[in-house]
Amino acid sequence: MMNENKEYKLALVGATGVVGRIARKILEEKNLPISEYVFFSSYKSAGSKIMFKGKEYVVRELKEDSFDEGFDFAIFSAGGDTSKKFSPIAASKGCIVVDNSSAWRMDKDVPLVVPEVNSDEIKNNKGIIANPNCSTIQAVVPLKVLDDKYKIKRIVYSTYQAVSGAGLKGINDLEHGNEEEYNLQKFPYPIINNCLPHIDVFLENGYSKEEEKMINETRKILNRPDLRITATTVRVPVINSHSESINVEFEKSFDLSELIEALKSSKGIIVEDDVSKNIYPIATKASGHDEVFVGRIRRDFSVENGINMWVVADNLRKGAASNAIQIVEEMIKMDSLTK
Ligand code: NAP
Repeated sequence: MMNENKEYKLALVGATGVVGRIARKILEEKNLPISEYVFFSSYKSAGSKIMFKGKEYVVRELKEDSFDEGFDFAIFSAGGDTSKKFSPIAASKGCIVVDNSSAWRMDKDVPLVVPEVNSDEIKNNKGIIANPNCSTIQAVVPLKVLDDKYKIKRIVYSTYQAVSGAGLKGINDLEHGNEEEYNLQKFPYPIINNCLPHIDVFLENGYSKEEEKMINETRKILNRPDLRITATTVRVPVINSHSESINVEFEKSFDLSELIEALKSSKGIIVEDDVSKNIYPIATKASGHDEVFVGRIRRDFSVENGINMWVVADNLRKGAASNAIQIVEEMIKMDSLTK
């Protein structure tokens, strides 16, 4: 039964970070039935003031007793360590956490949710829901449509990821990297004029952790644990919005125009694909939007049933904040709090 008049209380943890700022902006844009907001950060930004929906709020330091006052939802964008420590505390006080870090994503008791793909999983939460990695979210939105229709056999990811995906320090390295005496804050080499095939730490098997995340999270979200996937993830000198080349091989044969129509008619996807007019998705146009943009859709002639496509989305919005807020919206719709 819908609880139509209920008003909710939401905590935004990491409210002063790159994702937190975008989350505030999206929450301002939306008219959700949330009557109380509390903004948390570390001790560093605690006490700073932010304007939100025309009102001044003082940012609070996140502490072990922060959730004692009672919250319905908390959106965490404050890194894995903070989430590991504080999400279970919040959940134990009856708050449902939507976490942007990688701390809980592969936990079998934690749903990993992209609403367009697997919103049914939300109801299986035990107090924590994980928001997938930004590069995975934008990939699985079109891949789910194609998997349902043609059954995916193999995926090859090559990503071109913006510096905003590495937080404020990553943005600083691109914006200030040419200044005299600037010391790099995030990347091991200058990102200006370079593409760095290095996102997150390297693992013993030679892959980066970002590549491993894309592989494992795609399998979990699509519920295809044995799907063959490989990935190369690359940081590029772009401020915002990740671009991805995705090569997909299918079990079934397909008609290319039908495949494109299926993508066009799916929620959350905008197809921009007309090379005769130089129309294809680009990062600067995707920024500020919540949809996933897909173009350059063409047959891979090197296999029997395969395509290549170019997929671009705003990594701070669909890749992080808006996906998390969409999950909260779904929960409000389902009124899962009265379960
Ligand atoms: P960021 O710009 O560095 O911001 C980090 C935020 O976390 C700040 O508000 C910071 O507060 C807060 N914080 C740090 N330690 C804390 C603590 N102990 N207690 C409470 N708050 C604490 O990072 P970001 O890019 O926004 O990323 C935040 C999280 O989202 C990360 O887990 C990241 O992996 C994930 N994520 C990021 C993206 C992206 O595209 N950027 C996409 C998906 C997921 P102070 O201001 O006090 O330092």
